[in-house]
Amino acid sequence: MEIKLNSPLDMHLHLRDGEMLGLTVPSSSKTFSGALVMPNLTPPLTSASSVLEYSGRIKEHSSGDVFTPYMTLFFKNSYTREFLHDIKDKILAVKLYTAGATTNSEDGISLPIGDDTLEVIGMLEELGIPLSVHGETTGFVLERETEFAAAYDELASSFPKLKIVMEHITTTTLAELLGRRENLFATITLHHLLITLDDVIGGALSPHNFCKPVAKSPRDREALRHLALSAHPKVMFGSDSAPHPRDKKESCCGAAGIFHAPFALQLLATIFEGAGKLENLQGFVSDNARAIYDIDPPPKTVVLEKKPFTIPKTCGGVVPFLGGSTLEWSIKEVS
Ligand SMILES: [Zn+2]
Repeated sequence: MEIKLNSPLDMHLHLRDGEMLGLTVPSSSKTFSGALVMPNLTPPLTSASSVLEYSGRIKEHSSGDVFTPYMTLFFKNSYTREFLHDIKDKILAVKLYTAGATTNSEDGISLPIGDDTLEVIGMLEELGIPLSVHGETTGFVLERETEFAAAYDELASSFPKLKIVMEHITTTTLAELLGRRENLFATITLHHLLITLDDVIGGALSPHNFCKPVAKSPRDREALRHLALSAHPKVMFGSDSAPHPRDKKESCCGAAGIFHAPFALQLLATIFEGAGKLENLQGFVSDNARAIYDIDPPPKTVVLEKKPFTIPKTCGGVVPFLGGSTLEWSIKEVS
């Protein structure tokens, strides 16, 4: 059995910077046609020059692969209309973090959302720049996303023409909210389709399954699977693949982030075929994102075949998600 995917897209990706680009960029550029690149570097991407330079470094590492890095800008309250107008054609979205929600998000906004933040969001609406949001409060870890639902709802109703992407949703609360507001969209990761909190702390502590937002309950996972497997037109694949060196994960203050970009398509094919929904994979990994972001990614065809593939136990000093396990699908050819 085979499946052919046209221009797969990963609409939430962390490529990191420096030496790590040598691992992360080829891991995605080999099989994906494009990816929405997150801006939470140290320091975060907040200027046109930093966005352009980072995009240049990414392209240098993609070794001739057909691959478009769609860039994002780190949200700041201090942006002016002129600045956003000028940077508009260099980015696909502005990414808003709440302060302290995840890796390198210390410069994010504080809650409740203040007038200065709303003013900048109004400019994005006016300029037609989508807003991508890491929507978590700093409350109790399992409630952070649910507590942010009211903010999403308020933003969606206050800025009806603004496209708002709820990134890496993990709860039934946000899965339901998606259907209630026309201008809300969502990305869903790979790992949240597979694991629950049990896979992180239910038995022995599993640092390589630790991510933000943390995996939730089986019921939440079911809601996400329902959206993804049916290729609901308002959801897109966003891997949130976010590597950390092994010693940063297996440590007394282990970093949050899961790495699976090089095996994402093999894993997704295994999940979709397992659920009898292989025909919806194209929508989830490409077509929905093209429609939502109105993009035309470079042509790339990936043929996957039903043939066992074993995920390596390490990749360049990083332990990948499900390392050592055997999947039912492998990449046959990329053209
Ligand atoms: Zn992320």
